[in-house]
Amino acid sequence: MKTKDKSESSWNLSPAPESTDHIQLKKRYEHFINGKFVKPVKGKYFATINPATEVKLAEVAEGTIEDVNKAVNAARSAYENVWSVMPALERAKYIYRIARMIQERAKEFAIIESLDGGKPIRESRDIDIPLAANHFFYHAGWADKLEYAFPNKNPQPLGVVGQIIPWNFPLLMASWKIAPALATGNTVILKPAETTPLTALKLAELIQDSGLPDGVVNIITGAGETGAAIVNHPEINKIAFTGSTQVGKIINKTVAGTQKKVTLELGGKAANIIFEDAAIDQAVEGIVNGIYFNQGHVCCAGSRLFVQESIFETVVKKLKHRLESLIVGDPLDKNTDVGAINSKEQLKTINDYIEIGKQEGALMYQSSCTLPSKGNWCKPTLFLNVSQSHTIAQEEIFGPVLAIQTFRTIEEVISKANNTPYGLSAGVWTDKGSKIFNLTHQLQAGVIWANTYNKFDPASPFGGYKESGLGREGGLHGLAAYLNLK
Ligand code: NAP
Ligand code: MG
Repeated sequence: MKTKDKSESSWNLSPAPESTDHIQLKKRYEHFINGKFVKPVKGKYFATINPATEVKLAEVAEGTIEDVNKAVNAARSAYENVWSVMPALERAKYIYRIARMIQERAKEFAIIESLDGGKPIRESRDIDIPLAANHFFYHAGWADKLEYAFPNKNPQPLGVVGQIIPWNFPLLMASWKIAPALATGNTVILKPAETTPLTALKLAELIQDSGLPDGVVNIITGAGETGAAIVNHPEINKIAFTGSTQVGKIINKTVAGTQKKVTLELGGKAANIIFEDAAIDQAVEGIVNGIYFNQGHVCCAGSRLFVQESIFETVVKKLKHRLESLIVGDPLDKNTDVGAINSKEQLKTINDYIEIGKQEGALMYQSSCTLPSKGNWCKPTLFLNVSQSHTIAQEEIFGPVLAIQTFRTIEEVISKANNTPYGLSAGVWTDKGSKIFNLTHQLQAGVIWANTYNKFDPASPFGGYKESGLGREGGLHGLAAYLNLK
């Protein structure tokens, strides 16, 4: 394939990297248990790497069952003696304070998020960190109003909750999990993903500074085994998991037959549907945002595009043109659109899918950008000549790879869009409100965006149909999932 050098590309902006001078990272991070940073019982650590440079950022404790035991004891004691007996209004003040402190330290969090995870600074600065603060603000407001949210239901906390999160929105997922748990009077043990633990550990420092009572939030780092130790722990009352469908199924089996409650936010294979009456330029921007945003590391990524046949040529031409202008590279550069792939393993998964796509007969087109020589990178990619049975149209790739198909009628596109084991999200682009309502009633997806994409709000419940999950997070539905209701 022909590659262009940077000077030939349509955008040739001077580098505008965010400074990292003021970022303070320790060489080594311990677990956060009972309000203190404590060494892992087995004394083991692992490295967290900057995926854009392959430079080691810090060492992080590897959690074992012994560490989880300690955290559960701390969380249980904090639950019984402090948090569940504290007046709700006082709980609200702590949650509100955490929200304010995230805002105050927003820049530091945004830079660390981009360093550790590879996402463009524009996204961590404008999306991840503000939304993380919003989750705390929103839930601070509910803490003393649960009686009104659930009238005559005598809302009571569950106890100690275990929360396990993925690497695509590290601080946002942590906030999304911790804020509702605290607002409802529960205490927490959170495990961030192995490749992106740093903002959760920074949040632990912030929580320490906030004066939140010891043991209310505990953060244990580690890999899948650490997560499994949390899931298996008999003293935990609820598991809240966000991650792959594969691990979600294991967790669901493990907790079946126990007293544990569970919510699962899992994978997706969203359909983005564009009708001939749509505002095409706006739709193309939305499609690009839907799949190339955060390198496609988004559970809701609009990874399947359905284009009405009459506008197929136009849409593909515009998409290819737009692909060429996407700036791929340094996540810390404020102009960057597409950052680094989160890990070597994920890059391999994506590249394997691209290979399968080609082998199965789909036609690949990639941006002609030049990729940095070090780090994990993938060119924004689209596939034409895709059919429903193609692997790239069926399985979650979790990378910047779009599979494009066409349709003629509404009935056809609904049946194609629903023909997947997943059902997390979908997008519809049309000028007609009636079409939007028709589709939102028939598409099997937890979230459906119309003439926009990837918009999130703490007040809005979020979750999947079919193999995309169990239960809802966010809004009143999300609060209910952390309560015993009569
Ligand atoms: P993953 O492999 O399932 O991991 C998610 C978390 O679970 C990580 O913290 C992981 O630790 C841990 N884990 C792994 N094996 C475990 C086990 N047996 N028991 C308990 N915990 C275990 O998912 P991922 O690759 O990090 O994230 C990508 C997936 O998340 C995609 O499928 C995506 O669609 C989904 N996702 C869904 C949503 C949603 O809201 N529905 C949001 C974001 C992402 P390690 O880090 O050590 O593996
Ligand atoms: Mg990392």
